[in-house]
Amino acid sequence: YPDIYSSILEGLNDKQLEAVTAPDGPVLVLAGPGSGKTRVLTHRIAFLLSQGVSPFNILAVTFTNKAAREMRERIERLVGGAFGSYEARNITMGTFHSICSRVLRRDGGAIGISPNFVIYDDDDQIRLIKQALNEIGLDEKQYAPRSIQARISSAKSALLDPEDYSSQGVSSYFDEIAARVYRRYQQLLEINQAVDFDDLLMKVVLLWKSYPDILQQYRDRWQYVLVDEYQDTNRAQYMLINLLTQEHRNIFVVGDEDQGIYSWRAADIRNILNFERDYPEAKVILLEQNYRSYQEILDVASHIISSNRLRRPKKLWTNKSGGALVRVREAYDEQDEASYIAREISRLTSLGEYTYSDFAVMYRTNSQSRPVEEAFSRYRIPYQIIGGTRFYERREVKDVLAYLRLIHNPHDAASLRRIIENTPSGRGIGKGTMKTLEDLASRAHISLWDAIEIALGIKSLEEVGAFLPNLEIPKLQSKAKESLKQLVGLIYELREQRDILTLPHLIDTLLIKSGYASFLSSGAEEDLERLENARDLISIAQDYAAIDTSEALVEFLQEVALQSDVDTMQNNGNQVTLITLHAAKGLEYKVVFIIGFEEGLLPHARSMDRESDIEEECRLAYVGVTRAMEKLYISYAFHRNVFGATQTNVPSRFLANIPPDLLDGSLPSLGRRGPGRLTSTTSPRTPSGSTYPGGARNYSGQSYRPFPSNSNFVSSSNLERIIQEYKPGDRVRHPKFGEGVVLKVEIQGEDAEVEVRFAAGSTKKLLASMARLQKI
Ligand code: ATP
Ligand code: MG
Repeated sequence: YPDIYSSILEGLNDKQLEAVTAPDGPVLVLAGPGSGKTRVLTHRIAFLLSQGVSPFNILAVTFTNKAAREMRERIERLVGGAFGSYEARNITMGTFHSICSRVLRRDGGAIGISPNFVIYDDDDQIRLIKQALNEIGLDEKQYAPRSIQARISSAKSALLDPEDYSSQGVSSYFDEIAARVYRRYQQLLEINQAVDFDDLLMKVVLLWKSYPDILQQYRDRWQYVLVDEYQDTNRAQYMLINLLTQEHRNIFVVGDEDQGIYSWRAADIRNILNFERDYPEAKVILLEQNYRSYQEILDVASHIISSNRLRRPKKLWTNKSGGALVRVREAYDEQDEASYIAREISRLTSLGEYTYSDFAVMYRTNSQSRPVEEAFSRYRIPYQIIGGTRFYERREVKDVLAYLRLIHNPHDAASLRRIIENTPSGRGIGKGTMKTLEDLASRAHISLWDAIEIALGIKSLEEVGAFLPNLEIPKLQSKAKESLKQLVGLIYELREQRDILTLPHLIDTLLIKSGYASFLSSGAEEDLERLENARDLISIAQDYAAIDTSEALVEFLQEVALQSDVDTMQNNGNQVTLITLHAAKGLEYKVVFIIGFEEGLLPHARSMDRESDIEEECRLAYVGVTRAMEKLYISYAFHRNVFGATQTNVPSRFLANIPPDLLDGSLPSLGRRGPGRLTSTTSPRTPSGSTYPGGARNYSGQSYRPFPSNSNFVSSSNLERIIQEYKPGDRVRHPKFGEGVVLKVEIQGEDAEVEVRFAAGSTKKLLASMARLQKI
């Protein structure tokens, strides 16, 4: 190979080299974490360029937009210099959603999708589902919009339209309801000229299947298709790739069955099997060397995943040995867990070995981050949190975006409603007026915007394509009419401004003309902050100042709509990363803390009923553990406060298969339970915040005083002393059994029975008065 490209092949191991330089045709790289899959895919693209493949002919699909950006930069460096950046810029690279959004923008017209479509997010979808329920005359309290949304989403991921779904997917009464809502929901999307996330994929499949000539254009364009994190593709995504590549067969996918963690978004590991069926000539390459983690970490990882039955065993080795053992720690509660992490990070950074950005704290659910944030604030540790309340989910930011979406596409009723209802409050358009307008829209099958224009006499029914001669046009009150006129005028005016101003300028103008800026000008702290957030959009939009504003608006709104949590992550700041296990996929950190390794959290309580769900939780734990390069800390808390209730959890079953000599720290004996058993108990939080776990007797009261005034129990000073002496979580020492933790305290006549789990592994029930327990 020519010299200038030696950097592309340098340092790859034999297997990696084989994959990177494979001849044309299908390639499947199956390999465990840290084995260089993403690296191989990146180098493969650089290699293709080095072989004279045009960057215009390459399509690379990544799991996040951030991953795409980084891959592009890496390729630039690999192929070198100014030439490199030119080459890399022209590769089509991004998530399935962003790629499909572009395809629809360009060619969606063929299947009736307006080129001005807006993308509806989760919130918008729920609103629309509620509207659909309402119109059908169903009660949203009885049929949870969230559950219906989930049904619709999985139908779409399986490529079932409302008709298919009613005829194939319906197996219960609830499904039937969902099918009816789905039909109306889809109509509403069309009227609003909107698509949801699942539509982006499904509509492109529909487009390509219905119009072979359009598909052919894309096949000609993307002659090389590469997909990272292939195990997490769903049915629709599989179809997309397959449609594109079944002729030229230049399909290069990398994945790891053990890291499939998105089945709740309809990802289907079977796509790996489908691949081998649809491309029987595929070259299958297994990578075995791990370059990321120390052997000590890999060993723990393999024991965790080994309990899964539905997998092929895989070898994974590294020549990085001599690292520290994986630390396991039981915390008393989530505060204790968080403080320990803060102390440990402070200690390690003060030694000068690590900087803050080397650390990540990972957890199963977003709400677990709060105590960690609090501890970090106390210890003055800088951090960034991935997920949580995103910038684009803030109210004021959504308000401004609603204006922008409406300028782009006035038929988007979700945005129109938001503006009328929220910003600035009321706008003088009352509920009654809205109801009248919405009825009109619904009866005439037109958008809310069209209905307003008709009611104001700006347009006729014929002009908006509604031919209903008998339809009565409602009369509005003059005050409402005046307000609506103003609003419509404002949007028209801003649409004109769009043709003159740059995007940042347009946002500035809309803030002023809409009255939003003065609405937030009270001077109160909260308003100042909100105004600042709104104005932040202006600086973000600077990136788009150089392109034509209509185009810029499209790009900007698309970027905002398709931004994932990880996309907002910063690499440069010197700060600790707080991130969910799901979002941590593909990433790596020198030091990783995984918190909440407990039954009920990991595996999550929601996943305890089905073995396949438990296995997915196990893969999630595996993904987390394999993010660590040098040090890994696993912790579980004895007590945890979840949404105001104190749970007493036992350590995760996923720790049960790890031999003790691989771990540094207390081995959780309680984790050794059979699979599929729910072992956490929840009790309501008492006013004082303290509870006694388990047992029929639940003492409420303050500071562990067991006798509220209406108590049935006879007070005895002895008993009171015992109860106050021991509480769950206390560490105790017994002359014979050694150290342990109090699990439970239960009244036995005038004595109390104390249940203690000893470090040696046994759990004993001891009478408090006799036990010679000592608190430590
Ligand atoms: P995951 O399954 O977690 O996504 P992966 O298989 O995609 O992992 P990469 O992220 O590509 O693995 O690689 C893991 C780490 O190992 C990276 O830091 C990468 O730079 C490094 N690495 C991979 N291959 C080599 C190699 N041949 N020489 C040196 N370092 C390598
Ligand atoms: Mg990867």
